[in-house]
Amino acid sequence: MIDLRSDTLTKPTAGMLAAMMAAAVGDDVYGEDPTVNELEARVADRFGKEAALFCPTGTMANQIAVRIHCRPQDEVLLEASNHIYLWEAGGPAALSGVTLRTIPGRFGVLSVADLEPHLHPDDMHSVRSRLVCLENTHNRGGGGVYPLATIADVSAWARANGLATHLDGARLWNAEVASGVGPREWARHFDTLMVSFSKGLGAPAGSALAGPKDLIAHARRVRKLFGGAMRQVGFLAAACLYGMDRHVARLADDHANAKLLGDAVRDVPGLTLTPGEVETNLVWAEVAPALGTARDVANRLKAAGVQASALGSNVVRFVTHLDVSRADCERAAAAIRALSGARA
Ligand SMILES: *Cc1c(COP(=O)(O)O)cnc(C)c1O
Repeated sequence: MIDLRSDTLTKPTAGMLAAMMAAAVGDDVYGEDPTVNELEARVADRFGKEAALFCPTGTMANQIAVRIHCRPQDEVLLEASNHIYLWEAGGPAALSGVTLRTIPGRFGVLSVADLEPHLHPDDMHSVRSRLVCLENTHNRGGGGVYPLATIADVSAWARANGLATHLDGARLWNAEVASGVGPREWARHFDTLMVSFSKGLGAPAGSALAGPKDLIAHARRVRKLFGGAMRQVGFLAAACLYGMDRHVARLADDHANAKLLGDAVRDVPGLTLTPGEVETNLVWAEVAPALGTARDVANRLKAAGVQASALGSNVVRFVTHLDVSRADCERAAAAIRALSGARA
């Protein structure tokens, strides 16, 4: 089975496992895990921030960010299909008493013109506009790279209006490799950012939140509150360091493999690539009724040895990653093309 459901499905490579087993560890709640401390320092340095905090998941890192930037009655402005809204179980309302203002964008991208009308005046009848969250690359938006100039504009606008900024950079590594824009250049436009090691980098778990010292100190308290303070997790941090050192440049292979799948999707009447170009490792396609539902398409592919995600009634997603080769993707592309002529 060629599993293209997600880049979270990867298993640690032999090299990564060896690095994990060799990790020096200690109790991280005591601040005594040397490998976690090294990872936090390396992440902070890589993204040009003062400090970083290791978190078990990207969801927790995002939810900690919402909590440290906002108070109850505050509002977060974000694109309507951002992960923080769609796939984090209602966290901002449940954990932080915060309202989300979801604004429809273009494949996950918002400009200042989209955001501006949603800024609330300072008025006791309104929620307080407090935080802007962007996502890069954008998952539901099709894996597109957020244009750097748009990020710079939004960030400047947010600062001018007293809003904090947070980047959901679960796949920021992919944006770096696809665009050639370095980590600090992306990160400098945000107060805080989250990156994940458990997606394209292939670690079994782990994300980090980076930002200014005082905010990360606050984040450490909130991580404890949310149940995310762990003990000898240098074993995981070693996997994250290994992924950061060895699995970033190779994301270019995942992107090339995804383009191959995107070309196959384009050849199938009834499948529409959304957006029209594949920029990174995600391939989203809309299914026309003539081909049946997304589930029907996923089932037909599965029968041909390829697993894809049916996300919604008429949308399928393919994700390339460390555990699928070029040859796997060539076979998957053939299976996708073979959908031509299939009927609902
Ligand atoms: C996967 C993902 C997350 C959350 O990461 P988990 O580790 O699964 O909680 C956050 N944002 C984006 C864009 C993601 O794709």
